[in-house]
Amino acid sequence: MAATGPQPGASNHQLWLVPRSGDAGHHLVAEVALRRPDPGLVTYAVPDTLAEVVRPGAMLSVPLGRSAKPTAALCVRVSTQPWDHTRQPVLEAVPGPDWLSPHLVELGLWMGRYYACSAWQSFGAIVPTPARRPRRRKVHLLRLAGPVEPDLLTDRQRALVTALGDQERERNAVLSESGASPAILRTLQRRGVISSRTETEFCRPAPPDPEQFRTSPEDSPEDSFALTTAQQAALDAISGAIDSDAFRVQLLFGVPGSGKTEVYVRAARRVVAQGRQVILLIPEIALTTQLLQRVQRRFERVAVLHSQLTERQRATTLAAIADGVVDVVIGTRSAVFAPCPRLGLLIVDEEQEGSFKNLASPFYHARNVAIKRGQLQGLPVLLGTATPSLETWYNVKHRRHFELLRLDERVPGARLPKAHLVQSADDDTDAGLLSDELRSEIDQTLRSSQQVILLHNRRGYAVYLRCSSCGLPVLCERCGSHYVYHQHDKLLKCHRCGQRRSVPPHCLDDTCRGRLVPGGSAIQRLEEELRRNWPQARLLRLDSDTMRRRADYEAALASFEAGAADIMLGTQMIAKGLDFPRVRLVGVIAADAALALPDFRAGERVFQLIVQVVGRAGRREGESLALVQTEQAPQLIHDARRLDYEAFAERELELRRRMFFPPWSRMVRMVCADSRPQRAREAATQFAEQLTAQAERISAALRVAAPMSCVIPRLREMLRWEVLVCGPRDRSIPQLLSIIAGDKHLRPHVQRFTIDVDPLDLF
Ligand code: ADP
Ligand code: ZN
Repeated sequence: MAATGPQPGASNHQLWLVPRSGDAGHHLVAEVALRRPDPGLVTYAVPDTLAEVVRPGAMLSVPLGRSAKPTAALCVRVSTQPWDHTRQPVLEAVPGPDWLSPHLVELGLWMGRYYACSAWQSFGAIVPTPARRPRRRKVHLLRLAGPVEPDLLTDRQRALVTALGDQERERNAVLSESGASPAILRTLQRRGVISSRTETEFCRPAPPDPEQFRTSPEDSPEDSFALTTAQQAALDAISGAIDSDAFRVQLLFGVPGSGKTEVYVRAARRVVAQGRQVILLIPEIALTTQLLQRVQRRFERVAVLHSQLTERQRATTLAAIADGVVDVVIGTRSAVFAPCPRLGLLIVDEEQEGSFKNLASPFYHARNVAIKRGQLQGLPVLLGTATPSLETWYNVKHRRHFELLRLDERVPGARLPKAHLVQSADDDTDAGLLSDELRSEIDQTLRSSQQVILLHNRRGYAVYLRCSSCGLPVLCERCGSHYVYHQHDKLLKCHRCGQRRSVPPHCLDDTCRGRLVPGGSAIQRLEEELRRNWPQARLLRLDSDTMRRRADYEAALASFEAGAADIMLGTQMIAKGLDFPRVRLVGVIAADAALALPDFRAGERVFQLIVQVVGRAGRREGESLALVQTEQAPQLIHDARRLDYEAFAERELELRRRMFFPPWSRMVRMVCADSRPQRAREAATQFAEQLTAQAERISAALRVAAPMSCVIPRLREMLRWEVLVCGPRDRSIPQLLSIIAGDKHLRPHVQRFTIDVDPLDLF
């Protein structure tokens, strides 16, 4: 913002704008992100008094608009600029981190452009809690009020006066140093020997303690593994990339159990040995506890960043990373912004995972941000997975900077499991969810005292109530989706919008009034069936109803690992990263259920899930078995059973090419939400018209779809309409986004407007 002459309320600050002699013509300015939808940065003058504290990362208060209203801002860059016009001054600095590096600034600016969000949102993802003001505390300061006559003082009083000296000092420090009581101080104050005043200052977090991030690595048998030929070849290629100090993306593509983690560890060690830092991104801490522990214990100075840290823990951890007292940062998506001063390698494990996508503005995908960061800093990026996202697979095939490293074999000792497809049990009978095959294998496994994992995707996904005579399901009054029946508390709960209600006595269609029966199948029903069939078996159910906190989850896994349960059943939660030696049988109840979802990625998700499950079963020596129950068996399920990713990818990519879906195209989803009737719809319609006009000017290949009601038409009391834009992978979408960002008249006037670039879910 350019200040045009003195503004009311700001006049007393204009003093700072007079250039000092000597450096006439230049002054210090701060570029800041302001809390408002504006995309860009705004420049303010930095007064001399604040020159020390205004740093990138600091929270500032700056005057905004005609009334010079103090407004929160985040300092992004500080520089010396020629004095070409008068700028408004920064009013106040609030302590914030001082580690926002030029690279992270570049990354933040890129993110704002790419994901079409404001600078405030973009940098808010990088610097934690800029939105909140830190607490202030009162400080009591003491000083000698005048000459003292030592002979008139008692010993204690004299000690206090000596401790104070002729400086102004903090009350508590003086008291504890002198051992004097507050009463003695009060006497001296009364006699006018000591004066006091009170100031408020910001509470500053304690500096990080490096010891907190020091682990004592145990000697691990893994250290002496002889790498397989494929592991060694991959490691050599990665080492080459590390040493070359250049941007490069390598995809470590290997079946489950091919030893990817060991390759990460050794690559990371090479980087650490060179005195540099590594960021390892993992999907979700709760789901990857085992991986986390395995990696953590192999390094000496490790920091873990995840969403369950308190603000203070997070700030301390980030400060320690910035101080360089940490070599390896392991964390979930936001760890991609870890302020490593000497970053040498970025690793993304399970790069296809949906949890890398942020579900609020900025809707960034941490894998893509990692790649961008690698490019900006000239660093190698390593992506690892058994089931690459089709986006990444496409890039490997079409992009110069991408390289494929394959681990085709499992490590010695691990054998491929036997995997069978079996027909799902007929759901409409009372026979239950388990097919005969699955039931007899569970029997056999339990008899040989081994363990079973059963996976029934989606929490209560299809347990709804429907009418036995007309077939009408009981739908949520608020959002229209199927109510999920929770047996435990005999309630219907909407998993979309949170609505609850009691079970209606009969069909909601008054002309029918038929009897309601449970339809579909869910994890609770599975649990009951297991209890009926194997009353002796010890069950452990893991889903987000039973596992609310990370600690619950860890405890449950530990008890299963220790053999405290025979059967573990759960949602997709249990499909990932678990490695249990005593598991003989893994069963999937309804592998194809998710194929019915209105989402072009449904097939990809089902494929990934089955591969994970099938891969799990064969991790260790000995016979193991995966049984995949499915109602229909489209080709992708056969491919998944055989762990044949490439066959799947080829077919799926061809399908997407014909439909012009990502990765062949890029997609942007814009959602208008408003609680007022018709408002979202009208705004979306008008917006789509304007977009179409803009798009036509940019490229004939840009497609703006007619506005539609969202798959979840109502959320948090707001009606939702979406506008989807599809376009080629060139400059046309960014161009369109920058037009939207730059023209506030174009933005729909609704209570909530979001832009999701490269959306993962289309709900
Ligand atoms: P992935 O991540 O590819 O699924 P992991 O890295 O988890 O595979 O490796 C599977 C198992 O094989 C782990 O228990 C690991 O300790 C072990 N392992 C890895 N590399 C070797 C090797 N070279 N020799 C023997 N065992 C290995
Ligand atoms: Zn609902």
